[in-house]
Amino acid sequence: MYKPVIGLEIHTQLKTESKMFCSCPNRSSVKEPNINICPVCLGHPGTLPVINEEAVKKVLEVGMALDCELRDVSRFDRKNYFYPDLPKGYQISQDRRPLCYEGFLDIKGKRVRIKRIHLEEDTGKLFHDEKEQSSLVDFNRAGIPLMELVTEPDIRSGYEAYKFAEELQLIFRYLEISDANMQEGQMRVEVNISISHMEGRLGTKVEIKNLNSFRAVQRAVDYEIKRQSGILENGKHVLMETRGWNEKKEETFAQREKEEAFDYRYFPEPDLPPMYLNDPPFNKQNIKLKTELPQKKRERFKNEYGIEEEKEMEVFIADRDLADYFERIMSETLNWTKEWDEKSKVQKREKNQLTRLVVNYLLTDFLGLIKEKTAKDTLITSENFAELIMLVYKKEISSKMAKDLLKEMHETGGDPSQIIEEKGLSQIKNTEEAKSLIKEVIEENSGAVIDYKEGKKEALQFLVGKVMAKTKGRLDPEKALDEIKKIID
Ligand code: ADP
Ligand code: MG
Ligand code: ZN
Repeated sequence: MYKPVIGLEIHTQLKTESKMFCSCPNRSSVKEPNINICPVCLGHPGTLPVINEEAVKKVLEVGMALDCELRDVSRFDRKNYFYPDLPKGYQISQDRRPLCYEGFLDIKGKRVRIKRIHLEEDTGKLFHDEKEQSSLVDFNRAGIPLMELVTEPDIRSGYEAYKFAEELQLIFRYLEISDANMQEGQMRVEVNISISHMEGRLGTKVEIKNLNSFRAVQRAVDYEIKRQSGILENGKHVLMETRGWNEKKEETFAQREKEEAFDYRYFPEPDLPPMYLNDPPFNKQNIKLKTELPQKKRERFKNEYGIEEEKEMEVFIADRDLADYFERIMSETLNWTKEWDEKSKVQKREKNQLTRLVVNYLLTDFLGLIKEKTAKDTLITSENFAELIMLVYKKEISSKMAKDLLKEMHETGGDPSQIIEEKGLSQIKNTEEAKSLIKEVIEENSGAVIDYKEGKKEALQFLVGKVMAKTKGRLDPEKALDEIKKIID
């Protein structure tokens, strides 16, 4: 068996007002080509770049979130190469003094070390027109701040690569430094893979580019592990090269050989001063994380609300609006119990039951109601949501009624007890009224009664259903069941 070794290089477009070295708006999604451009990002002679402080601070924030060292003095370097989407003939990047270095990210208890995080500028985009036999270039993207993160080769499988990239995307979104949408190229993952006989020995690495989904990352790595193993088993050598990913065939294909390292002739960017990160305007010592990171939140949600199931947890982790809403509802719900329970201290078991109710109504019924919208768009206040939960908890309404109420509340913003009153939906408490309604149902469904007497237990459920329909869910089904049995027996 061969041991796979994988390292990732991840480019992420930063969400800033303007581009990296000029004041053009940072908007890569605009359709019309070459409108967000200027002499600076086109590299016209005589122009000078100016460092975008916001972009530098964002990278430092990411470095902090990933436990990196933040450099004291950093600088930009010129990376020289020719390509038609690179207007200057060089890219301003960082070679020897990246902003951040030596960090790590733990994925399910496994540590992936981060080698470096640096800042550079994005390139333009080429469009190839097969019919016209020509290519067009759009420079709207040229000069957009691009953060590059490089890991140490600590990853061992396609699944781990996917999980790592996914967690990074979450962190970027939490920090609001990027939308990090892979399909739109805001986050681009390149994987380096090699295999060898021995743990710790590095084989010849192959780089795979153009992976635009997590699924592709995982598949490409797993495919490549198999391909390379096959080569070694046949006594041949793996070629050091760059490969692409064919989404349809689900296989990698050779793009270009990389026999010797390409010489970019890096040298310090003469048009930009070094960055003293302890001093204004950067003041790295003042940079603080503005938000709770996903892993912290998982731990807190587990401890505070007892959420154990991964599926549920990840819905909350991925959707921060929903998670905030959940927390507000929980705090309102616990307020309600204070009012209701004079002892004022909610017991642990009761709290757990209430939490389960809130989670279930949120993740099934509520998410079904809001569909593509976010929890921010609902008319249901957290207070009203909590009130509904208490009504269910105290068995004052059936779950069927609760679902209907939730829908109504979402549409009108109404208060649950008010809706109940207005629509005459309150639970039938008067047992005489309940009894006579049940008697009516029994008389109307004599066939089912006979079935039940003949031992068909399902007939009872059928009758309960009829009672619920007749009362529009205004009776507790368990009580109805007991009453039906009593009457028939
Ligand atoms: P290069 O200079 O060729 O870009 P780097 O040292 O910068 O190489 O590493 C690029 C990426 O490749 C990193 O993520 C690193 O972890 C990974 N890597 C380096 N060597 C190997 C290897 N033998 N097998 C797999 N990944 C590797
Ligand atoms: Mg590299
Ligand atoms: Zn510009």
